[in-house]
Amino acid sequence: MKIKVKKNDNVIVLSGRDRGKQGKVTQVFPKLGLLVVEGINLRFKHLKTRQRGRTGSRVQYAAPLPIAKVSVICPHCGKPTRVKIQIGSDGQKIRLCRKCSQSM
Ligand SMILES: [Zn+2]
Repeated sequence: MKIKVKKNDNVIVLSGRDRGKQGKVTQVFPKLGLLVVEGINLRFKHLKTRQRGRTGSRVQYAAPLPIAKVSVICPHCGKPTRVKIQIGSDGQKIRLCRKCSQSM
């Protein structure tokens, strides 16, 4: 599968606990088919402290989720869309919104 989502894209979650939420992509793992979205799929990591008498602290972090579970939001029309890849005259790949055909 071709990965069309890039870091800093705004995406909307299509399924699961965070369905309908939007966020910015902070990391993409193309080989794993996963990405990390700011504020989405939050989990707690529990840290044990070595000192006695103190409770372990917990750290909240955004866990990776499958790329298939999100849709890119077009920065031009603001709608969740599919991305169309077009090769430009200089051989560069251009990502186009399927709804408004603007590059993104
Ligand atoms: Zn658009």
